[in-house]
Amino acid sequence: MDDKADSQGTPDSKPKYKAWFQSIADKTERGPLDDLSYRASDGALLEVRHDIDELRKTSADEWKRIFKQRSHSTDWPYASGVWGKKEWVLPGIDNAHVVSMYEGNTNLFWADRYGRQLGLKDLWIKQCGNTHTGSFKDLGMTVLVSQVKEMIAKGKDIQAVACASTGDTSAALAAYAAAAGVPAIVFLPKGKVSIAQLIQPVANGAIVFALDTDFDGCMKIVRHVAENDGVYLANSMNSLRIEGQKTVGIEIVQQFDWNVPDWLVIPGGNLGNVSALAKGLDMMIDLGLIQRRPRIVCAQAEAANPLYQSYQRGFKGFEPIAAGPTLATAIQIGNPVSIDKAIDALKRYDGIVEQATENEIAESCARADRTGLFNCPHTGVALAALEKIVARGEIKKNDRVVVLSTAHGLKFVEQKVSYHRKELEGIDSAIANPPVELAADYQVVRDEMFRQLELRDKAV
Ligand SMILES: *Cc1c(COP(=O)(O)O)cnc(C)c1O
Repeated sequence: MDDKADSQGTPDSKPKYKAWFQSIADKTERGPLDDLSYRASDGALLEVRHDIDELRKTSADEWKRIFKQRSHSTDWPYASGVWGKKEWVLPGIDNAHVVSMYEGNTNLFWADRYGRQLGLKDLWIKQCGNTHTGSFKDLGMTVLVSQVKEMIAKGKDIQAVACASTGDTSAALAAYAAAAGVPAIVFLPKGKVSIAQLIQPVANGAIVFALDTDFDGCMKIVRHVAENDGVYLANSMNSLRIEGQKTVGIEIVQQFDWNVPDWLVIPGGNLGNVSALAKGLDMMIDLGLIQRRPRIVCAQAEAANPLYQSYQRGFKGFEPIAAGPTLATAIQIGNPVSIDKAIDALKRYDGIVEQATENEIAESCARADRTGLFNCPHTGVALAALEKIVARGEIKKNDRVVVLSTAHGLKFVEQKVSYHRKELEGIDSAIANPPVELAADYQVVRDEMFRQLELRDKAV
């Protein structure tokens, strides 16, 4: 395996590059990546740090060449968008322990028509949902489950992996754990995830607990289980996931031939993803691949907006809230685990936090769908935030903007059905497009067809 890595243009094989856990508060506190604790002694989150001096011995141009070459290969595991950047992600792992479904390398959708409707010329949607389990969670889960597989191979006593989830984390965990042959336990808030999200871990053989609480309630339980019962925690509090997710920013820049976009717009719930996005970009700056930072917009649902509230106070202090119901179920989180990392990241990236009402989420989603997209509601939150920031002139006509679409719309069809049936409470459904039911009669169909085409003409 290592020989193969060399043939793929890797500067050198395994042990040269080092990575470790480090406290985000007290940087002297460090531990190996097979530690089974997720927080430092003072309760601060851990993060994975890399030996940047060693990585710097390879030039920026050389890294670019290596990353590009791997993304069009089939060579295990480097053709994955995550493992193509293995030295920056989890350098020490044996390739034989990598559990990958060739995640990442998702397409950028040039939102030409939707962009023009907003007055933007250069709008792109990063389709992170075009992946094995239908959400960006695959990017982090490949890293976490690979590390678990390696730890088990080395004799660590890990009975199972577990997570609390608003739906997508559990789908990703269940799939990767099933591929690795490791038992998975998922804790879901009962009745608060979509059918597609529920059936994924069920089908993949995870133990699925539907609890009578919200996400924050599930999180409390899984933390106890991880602390007391020999179960490995797979939530994004475990910073191994951030290492995989951070490749998305690197990948976006790579897709633009190493040109940095002006804006990255991302929905935020537990805030691991926005932290990860910034971390990947930080690494590119540290290693000289880019010289400029984009600005980051983090978008929240108004019903679950603790970060937005903190932003309004200039990030002076943070108060957890009880998150209310929202169409954007994956971000109905009132006490985000990665709040400190996220605020740090937004400060470094001249960040903006914007919020969207339920009506704005549904209508932005539907408008974008009309231009060929098929968005999940969380992407809808990001699009609604984008529309507001463009309208007030902060994002300019010629700016290059990338919206990170976090999941595939097919995971949320119930919502789309309700929208188009005008059955969503409090939502206008302004461009509902229900199927037209008619008798199978040529004249009737023909008349209705021309009536419909005329309606479309008026709408444009
Ligand atoms: C998990 C998730 C988010 C939120 O990501 P965080 O890291 O929790 O901020 C957004 N959208 C979708 C579809 C998700 O699954």
